Amino acid sequence: MSADDLEIAGFVPFSAIDWPGKLSAVVFLQGCPWNCGYCQNPDLIESGPGVVPWDHVRETLEKRVGLLDGVVFSGGEPTLQPEIVDAVVEVKGMGFGAVLHTNGAYPDRLAELLPNLAWVGLDIKAPLSRYPEVTGSRRGGERAWASLDVLIASGVDYEVRITVDPTVLTLPDVEEIVAELARRGTTSPVLQEARAQGARPEFVAKLGDRRLSDVVPEDALPGIERRVNLTTSESAPGIREALSQRDDRHIGGNASAA
Ligand code: SF4
Repeated sequence: MSADDLEIAGFVPFSAIDWPGKLSAVVFLQGCPWNCGYCQNPDLIESGPGVVPWDHVRETLEKRVGLLDGVVFSGGEPTLQPEIVDAVVEVKGMGFGAVLHTNGAYPDRLAELLPNLAWVGLDIKAPLSRYPEVTGSRRGGERAWASLDVLIASGVDYEVRITVDPTVLTLPDVEEIVAELARRGTTSPVLQEARAQGARPEFVAKLGDRRLSDVVPEDALPGIERRVNLTTSESAPGIREALSQRDDRHIGGNASAA
C-alpha cells in the first residue's frame, strides 16, 4: 500500500479556490461511500481504477516546488483510500502544505492524517437524524460529527461547510446544525448552495427552482457566510471525459462539495 496505488480520478495542477487564500494543485480521488442527491460528480462515487498515475502527480509537483503553497486532496471522498496517508506524507516532505476536503466519513483515518495536514474543509450535511436522507448512509451522521470533534481537538486550521440540500432540509434543520456546531466549538460555518450543475437528472428535477435562500431566508442566521458552491470541478464537469480528451492537463472534480 503506497501512494502509487491511489485511484486518482483527476488532477488539476493549479487552483486558486480550493485552499482559501492559497495556490494549490488538486488531486481528486475516486470513490465515496455515500450517495448524496446533489453530488456534482456522481461518476466519482463508485470505486474503480484511476485514470491518473500518482507518478504523474509527483513529477508535476516536483516542477512546482516554490510556486504552489499546497496540494489539496479531494474527491469523491479522499479518506476512503488508505493510500492517502502515504501521499500526504510525501507531498508534505516535498515542502507543500497538505490539505484535505472531506465529508468526515472516516474519523479514524482523519485522525491519522491530521498531524500532517495544514488545513481541512469538512462538510457537515445535516443534523444527525437527517443524515440518511441526505447521504443515503445510515451511520454517516455519527461519523461526520465524530470527525468534527477529532478535527477540533487536533488544533489544525479548518472550515466547516454546510451544503444545504433544499429537497430535504428545512430552516429548523439548518438552525439545529449551526447550534450544534457552536456547542461543539465551531462558530463560523459557511452555508453552501446545493446546485444542479453536474447532478443527476432526478435531483435536478426534484430541486426545481428551490435555492438556499428558500430554505434559509436572507434575514435568517445573520452573520453566517453564504457561498455559491464553486469548486474546481464546476469549471470542469464530466471530468472522466475531459481526462480522455487531454494529454497534459488532468482535470478533476470535487464531487463532495464533500
Ligand atoms: S457529494 Fe460528496 S459525500 Fe456526497 S456522494 Fe458526492 S462525493 Fe460523496
